[in-house]
Amino acid sequence: LIVAHGLQKYFGTFHVLQDIDFSIRKGEVVCIIGPSGSGKSTFLRCINQLESIEGGYVSVDGEIAGYRRDGNHLYPLSDREVARQRQSVGMVFQRFHLFPHRTVLENIIEGPVGVQRRPKQQCAEEARALLKRVGLAHKADAYPGELSGGQQQRVAIARALAMKPKAMLFDEPTSALDPELVGEVLGVMKELAATGTTMIVVTHELGFCREVADRVVFMDAGRIIETGTPAEILENPTNPRVKSFISAVL
Ligand code: ATP
Ligand code: MG
Repeated sequence: LIVAHGLQKYFGTFHVLQDIDFSIRKGEVVCIIGPSGSGKSTFLRCINQLESIEGGYVSVDGEIAGYRRDGNHLYPLSDREVARQRQSVGMVFQRFHLFPHRTVLENIIEGPVGVQRRPKQQCAEEARALLKRVGLAHKADAYPGELSGGQQQRVAIARALAMKPKAMLFDEPTSALDPELVGEVLGVMKELAATGTTMIVVTHELGFCREVADRVVFMDAGRIIETGTPAEILENPTNPRVKSFISAVL
């Protein structure tokens, strides 16, 4: 569903992503782990076209990010077309980025109604169903400030899902939360995984990786160093860098 091939990304002269090859199939869950500064967030941002890239490509469901294919030629897309492409991938960040002056329900329908121009009534119904799914049916009319961090993050997940993305990207979705709130967010993510959502999850929650991931990718210094099943990467890492990272996180 998502492919990155020979991806290169620079910040000035700093080569932050070096020759990244990655793919995820429909319905798969891939966790990305690795030390701080290794390029995990930048990689997710490249997939979602929040960053420009200097080499290689990303494609989502057969469409090359930022381009339209016509025969053997590639033509750059207009901003408007890029915005449309970006809707195919939902993203959840460490911080929730909800609109503080809008209710939970208004936050969720903002994208589908305001951006996708879908009927408000229908979007509101879907939003209520999504809220139920994340266990917050009773909070539709609350404001974000009235919710706990874990509840806000679950709203952020519902809001991303409201756009009906083909895949969901999570960038350390629980690392800004108090420990007792981590479980409720991971629980929602487990449910998404169990119902066939294609997910790329950057996380330090190795328990979640072990339980939910089909594959784990280890990044270090802008490269993918190892890819394997959770058992291969987490239980019996052969690469010394992976080994020392895992023992440091546990
Ligand atoms: P963390 O686990 O701390 O979130 P990460 O693996 O997500 O780390 P990135 O945020 O992708 O790492 O950053 C990779 C490298 O790129 C870091 O060295 C960071 O300082 C640098 N970097 C990130 N964003 C920018 C930017 N906008 N301009 C310049 N350098 C950046
Ligand atoms: Mg990061």
